[in-house]
Amino acid sequence: MKRALVTGGNRGIGKAIAAGLRDAGLRVIIGARDPDHGQAAAAELGVEFKRLDLADPTSINEARPWVSHVDVLVNNAGILEDVPLFDDGTNFERSMQTMLQAPYELIRTALPGMKLRSYGRVVNVSSGWGSFAEGLGGGGAYAVAKAGLNALTLRAAQDLPATVKINAMCPGWVKTRMGGASATRSPEEGAETAIWLATLPDTGPTGGIFRDRKQIDW
Ligand code: NDP
Repeated sequence: MKRALVTGGNRGIGKAIAAGLRDAGLRVIIGARDPDHGQAAAAELGVEFKRLDLADPTSINEARPWVSHVDVLVNNAGILEDVPLFDDGTNFERSMQTMLQAPYELIRTALPGMKLRSYGRVVNVSSGWGSFAEGLGGGGAYAVAKAGLNALTLRAAQDLPATVKINAMCPGWVKTRMGGASATRSPEEGAETAIWLATLPDTGPTGGIFRDRKQIDW
């Protein structure tokens, strides 16, 4: 049974991705920074919970032993703070750590095992706001971090063996705490492309960014 880690799996799109991967027959671990929320979501979903705070390098280091056994990694967790790009710098640092440095560290940790087992799927949950093609149109530090995550996806694909696939995706505008109540999609709809990328067959794509299962421009 393939092991999947979904970061920020306690709510929103991450929780819907975790449910979809569970239904696809994977052994799912949700990573969450708050143990109470993580345990409650894991119990509801019937999956495992592990504490993982992506803003905290110590928490990432403590997770390395079990992250190294993961076959499917979904870098989903994200933060969007309504502050200017040039504030006191703390939001930029937190955004880069959570949405770029942490995904890099998790990929780096999971990769040797994926190579050894000749199977790996990495999905980076990105955003149209991180797209050069769409003008990096929102969220300041958020947009820069997601553009970085896109660059990591494209660049990493060049270094990975064909058995390990890495792709980014945009979920669209989704009704979650981040997306707000006016958003047009349900978490399940937002999760659909991520679930597809996380369970790609050997013939599936790598090194792309997708929305609604269609490749879009960076
Ligand atoms: P939510 O705000 O509902 O959920 C975000 C998740 O990330 C929560 O589980 C949150 O945990 C977790 N998280 C945040 N910081 C950390 C951290 N330091 N360590 C671990 N987990 C953390 O957002 P969505 O579900 O909407 O977003 C999921 C992904 O989709 C994000 O990457 C987002 O950028 C992307 N996205 C969302 C869109 C939308 O319209 N909703 C549009 C485009 C992209 P906690 O509960 O502890 O806060």
